[in-house]
Amino acid sequence: MGFCPGFLFTLEVTTPVAFVSGLKCRECGREYAAEPLNVCDFCFGPLEVVYDYATISEVISRDSIERGPLSIWRYKDLLPADADDPVDIMAGFTPLIKAKGLGKTLGLNNLYIKNDSVNPSFSFKDRPVSVAATKAVEFGYKTIACASTGNLACSVAAHAARAGMRSVVFIPSDLERGKIIGAAIYSPVLVAVDGSYDQVNRLCSELADDYPWAFVNINMRPYYAEGSKTLGYEVAEQLGWRLPDHVVVPSASGAMFTKIWKGFNEMACLGLLEGVESGSFGVDQNTVHHPGVTTKMHMTQAEGCSPIVTAWENSASQVIAVKPDSLAKSLAIGNPADGIYSLKVIENSGGSAYAVPEDKIVEGIKLLAETEGIFTETAGGVTVSALKHLAKSGAIKPDELTVVYITGNGLKTQEAVEEVVNPLSIKPTMRGFEEAFDGEK
Ligand SMILES: *Cc1c(COP(=O)(O)O)cnc(C)c1O
Ligand SMILES: [Zn+2]
Repeated sequence: MGFCPGFLFTLEVTTPVAFVSGLKCRECGREYAAEPLNVCDFCFGPLEVVYDYATISEVISRDSIERGPLSIWRYKDLLPADADDPVDIMAGFTPLIKAKGLGKTLGLNNLYIKNDSVNPSFSFKDRPVSVAATKAVEFGYKTIACASTGNLACSVAAHAARAGMRSVVFIPSDLERGKIIGAAIYSPVLVAVDGSYDQVNRLCSELADDYPWAFVNINMRPYYAEGSKTLGYEVAEQLGWRLPDHVVVPSASGAMFTKIWKGFNEMACLGLLEGVESGSFGVDQNTVHHPGVTTKMHMTQAEGCSPIVTAWENSASQVIAVKPDSLAKSLAIGNPADGIYSLKVIENSGGSAYAVPEDKIVEGIKLLAETEGIFTETAGGVTVSALKHLAKSGAIKPDELTVVYITGNGLKTQEAVEEVVNPLSIKPTMRGFEEAFDGEK
């Protein structure tokens, strides 16, 4: 647990934005100016945003946050972009719902759902994309692009429309119809690639070297990923400035999972949490663990694409790439960029990782719909089934405060649940109804 004293970030950069002091390599620690960069020249490690937390701590308070807009931009002091004029379609500040029905079914008395399926483009991706798009405008880009498993394409195209920019979104051609239409409606240049997400991502990495475009999850990645920290901040704020005992999070690249953890730790260090002493930051977010953060981080993937879970189960220090074959296409990243960092978060938090069998995904979608009235996509089916497993196995005790992150909307993956459509087909008469309906009056 690298809990280091002092605020160590004093790097001078050319154009200071918000409280960002630069970028830093997560592997070798080399520092860079806050530019559109994502890998270290020196060791090829991923770069991450570094903040001047000493100054942030002087301006941020629960009050300052509560006075902010009802979007992710209420946490502007902890986001790496100029919040004076963000590309904002009101991502974030989604409902946190006490899950009485689902909780009762699973024997959990203190369960909450973070319903991020109701974001403007219907997934949590609006959070990181709002930050990345704002940053792209700041850097002077005219085109925003991405390599997507589906939801990212929808969100990038929507934010580009809002910003009056061109978007070029790359998707695997076998995506669900709801994701393709959900992106195409905003008139991006939609590129359907005959290949897997990992191939799409490799192609986009090559293109990013050649085209002067802001690829949100490639050259903008350090800024982009920070947007997901708001999933941590919001849950804490909505719980009355407290952290849950457990969270359950679906993962593809693992970025969101690590950023929720980072968000919790930043809040603790800045003294924003009830009953938690403020503290200082370590050098490396992956080893930062404020002792006041006791949340156990449970990550889940679908069995058909579970490289991070496999690495965790094997106590491996590397994540071995797989070829995805899963119903949960939004989670189908075979070579997860934040895989090893996710392993560290699981370990530091005392959490777990679980691969949901493919045939339990639809069961999870239906369980959530029937007990809570929330229609989630396949990724949410994975999450709910993982929660069920954690409750059953005793990893989550009945009275422990648990938050399950529902990250995407069911209307985008309708083909997964076609089987539910089974109406009483009748003639438009009383008799027609009475013959078909055998329920109680
Ligand atoms: C992208 C996505 C995820 C996974 O996010 P990562 O940060 O890549 O782990 C989870 N749920 C949904 C609905 C997604 O679209
Ligand atoms: Zn490096």
